[in-house]
Amino acid sequence: MKKKTCTTCNTVKGFDQFAVQSSRKDGRKTQCKACCKKRDEAKRQANKLAEAFQRAEENKNEALQELKVRKVRRSKKQKQRKRRSR
Ligand SMILES: [Zn+2]
Repeated sequence: MKKKTCTTCNTVKGFDQFAVQSSRKDGRKTQCKACCKKRDEAKRQANKLAEAFQRAEENKNEALQELKVRKVRRSKKQKQRKRRSR
């Protein structure tokens, strides 16, 4: 059986351990299936984190917007109070 070295884990593995990729000269990916799986898992985790981060960022922006609105309202009231006290 033909063998191939995975570019990620540098382990020599049988051709059946590499996923098919027709665009490659030898028809197989340079990464073994195990590494592809790991990479996909990492990608999924990264996506999850990115999504969570995005959501947190949106929440933060909303909260900031809310805060700004409140501050503006408050500062207007304060100005009015100052004018009255003079
Ligand atoms: Zn590998």
